[in-house]
Amino acid sequence: MIDKVKLIEVKYLPQELDSGILYVSKKYGIAGHLCPCGCGNKIITPLGRTEWHLNVKNGKPTLYPSLGNWQLPCRSHYWIIDGEIEWSYEWDDDQIKRGKNAEDMRRKTYFKKLTGKFKRRT
Ligand SMILES: [Zn+2]
Repeated sequence: MIDKVKLIEVKYLPQELDSGILYVSKKYGIAGHLCPCGCGNKIITPLGRTEWHLNVKNGKPTLYPSLGNWQLPCRSHYWIIDGEIEWSYEWDDDQIKRGKNAEDMRRKTYFKKLTGKFKRRT
């Protein structure tokens, strides 16, 4: 298991990712890293207002919200905070469903706000 990630800024995400590195392309608004459990799967996270937020402090990345890789066999769930992997509990199916619903709600609210703004302007 990996417990730290280093931030590397790139233009394009490389084909082969190294473990322990969070590759970030600000130009294309995307980040990628290898699942820190060691399973070797690539985790690609789009960055944006309804996706993941990337904060960099002293060169150390923080990704928000957490990364829940329930589509992978390892089902790892962790946070990247100040360049460190904070492991979370494993999600069961119920929690996955609830997590997904919360995510849907967050996006719906966000887009509702947006469309609300557009309506007011016209
Ligand atoms: Zn994994």
